[in-house]
Amino acid sequence: MMIGALALQGDFREHLVMVRRLGAEGIEVRTPEELDSIDALIIPGGESTAIGRLATIYGLIEPIQQRINDGMPVLGTCAGMIFLAAATVSYEQPQLRVLDVVVERNAFGRQVDSFEADLDVCGLDDPVHAVFIRAPWIHKVGAEVDVLASVVEPGSMQEHPVFVRQGRILATSFHPELTDDTRIHELLMEVG
Ligand code: GLN
Repeated sequence: MMIGALALQGDFREHLVMVRRLGAEGIEVRTPEELDSIDALIIPGGESTAIGRLATIYGLIEPIQQRINDGMPVLGTCAGMIFLAAATVSYEQPQLRVLDVVVERNAFGRQVDSFEADLDVCGLDDPVHAVFIRAPWIHKVGAEVDVLASVVEPGSMQEHPVFVRQGRILATSFHPELTDDTRIHELLMEVG
């Protein structure tokens, strides 16, 4: 299995290390030709505005949308989740708009910038140790979207989704590539 990491900005290298640990081939994707050669795509964390702007310049927005609409499995983490989403609360920025959610960028910032938490995830036996770095949360989910994990906002006790799935699209607010836990990347390899 050949897995590509969108290599425009952000921590794509860490994702490729994960993928190779799982025995798959991992390549950096910067062109439509490289996109054509992969079976699944990872969109890393970083800065979603930079990823969106560079993807526009590299002519990758439509080819990526096309491959996802044709059923290619995709995992977006943090900025990658924002880039996959339909819309963003209070920002206008380039987005793929293939995942029917509205995200709120830097959502935890009002409480705390970055933190770690053990998350219960639907379908996984043991909790996932999740690293959040200036993370978004999901403000609104569409009908086709399954929420796999949520975080309770300190203070308000409101629950906010941080891991969702819509068909073969997986998106996390946190960074599974920054721990030793390979289960989220395994899910990407299994959804296909
Ligand atoms: N705050 C970043 C954004 O809004 C995401 C941070 C991350 O990917 N760790 O794009």
